[in-house]
Amino acid sequence: MPVEVAAHAGFCMGVSRAVEKAEAMAKDGIPSCTLGELIHNPQVIRDLAERGLEPIREPEEAGSRRVLIRSHGVSPQVLEKLREAGNEILDLTCPFVDKLHRIVEEGSRDGTPVILVGERDHPEVRGTAGWAHGEVMFVAGPGEAERLPEIEKAVVVCQTTFPHSRWEAILEVLQRKIRQPDCRCTICNATEIRQKEARELAARADAMIVVGGRNSANTQKLYAICKNVCPRTILVESAAEIPPAFANKDSEMIGITAGASTPTDSLKEVVTRMSELENKDLNPTAEVDTNNDFMAEVESTLVRIRPG
Ligand code: SF4
Repeated sequence: MPVEVAAHAGFCMGVSRAVEKAEAMAKDGIPSCTLGELIHNPQVIRDLAERGLEPIREPEEAGSRRVLIRSHGVSPQVLEKLREAGNEILDLTCPFVDKLHRIVEEGSRDGTPVILVGERDHPEVRGTAGWAHGEVMFVAGPGEAERLPEIEKAVVVCQTTFPHSRWEAILEVLQRKIRQPDCRCTICNATEIRQKEARELAARADAMIVVGGRNSANTQKLYAICKNVCPRTILVESAAEIPPAFANKDSEMIGITAGASTPTDSLKEVVTRMSELENKDLNPTAEVDTNNDFMAEVESTLVRIRPG
């Protein structure tokens, strides 16, 4: 059973930078916290919390602690609130997100409205909206774009982890709706590369494993992309979640990829698990058929994709 891992899988630059700094903060003894979970990975969050770096939900919960701003970034209003309260801030906003903030801030200075393409509840989108000086409209799909009124002028940007094909479909509509559109594709390279490689690998694979946190938007997107071209795709947070009958034929090629917030150790664990199965003496009579039972077992591990 050949196993192939996508060339770019796991921690991206922004996440790896944030995790490295957080690790260092956990060691220096200064009382600290992170505003929101540092990354969408329960294992990493648990580990950091055990070492005193717990996540808080609101700036007010920080008390007098040093506050780490995660790679998703925050609005200037949140930064101001922390400064006013006298909190030391370590801002680890990813440079790609920082660029997005600057485009929004500069482009809307004269009151030009901003169309923010993305999931409006995503922390990066919420934070980015705060940098706009004027009106912000949120669009997550071509249907929503169609429902917008005719607009004279707008700056159009998107969530860094947004799927490229959906951005292009939305753009097509917006370019008809806005007389003077200023469209900037702010999808980050890490996301684009991971999504492209995942799509290509899933198209060649008999089955795909996407490793990552279920609450990670970019992991969910990788899962949706793979599932679309390879119906036998599962999303797991750890190797223990792989159904025993998932790899049931030693001739099948299993593809593996991981979200940008997935630690290398979790990815390695899954690769090792699949390699163990590869070395297992498969008893043909014990093999599970790719029938309804098998699919029911696999489907039971699948995650519902959040709408919009
Ligand atoms: Fe930065 Fe892209 Fe990673 Fe998000 S996915 S943290 S934008 S490198």
